[in-house]
Amino acid sequence: MTDSGSDRPTIPELRIGQGFDVHPFSEDSGRSMVLGGVTFDGPGLAGHSDADAVAHAVTDALLGAAGLGDIGQRFPDTDAAFAGADSMALLANAADAVVAEGWTVANVDCTVVLEAPKLAPRRDEMQAGLTRVVGGPVTIKGKRAEGLGALGRREGVACFAVALLVRSVAPSGREDGGTS
Ligand code: MG
Repeated sequence: MTDSGSDRPTIPELRIGQGFDVHPFSEDSGRSMVLGGVTFDGPGLAGHSDADAVAHAVTDALLGAAGLGDIGQRFPDTDAAFAGADSMALLANAADAVVAEGWTVANVDCTVVLEAPKLAPRRDEMQAGLTRVVGGPVTIKGKRAEGLGALGRREGVACFAVALLVRSVAPSGREDGGTS
């Protein structure tokens, strides 16, 4: 048997993270709707930052997978520094922190729940921008709420995201007479 000794191969360490975010539509006609870093026509979403629910959900999925807390801890909405913030820049900051812990982003998958506008025409643009910032493939799916609840009444937009991280685990080398 070769299940002991110091020459075991490294094994991949995997972590999955989940993120969710929701923002109501804003009554401020001066706000733009930004999802996944892409600006859409129509009413904007309300929030302390640019209210990019997709970027926020992806940020939380990455931070959760890496055990690095959540978006509210890292970028408090009570901090004036983040007022109107570009959420793709916040996502880039979080992705950098994840990579600094040795992780590679295997993939991120998102479901965006909204009645309108349709995401499909801008999907490639959203995926490309998010993939560039995250450093691993990001996929986007749009889903209607079929008229049910607040999302179905077009009161806001929600996003669910999952992220998978991977890194190699080095052999411990501590099984044969480790000093502590
Ligand atoms: Mg948010």
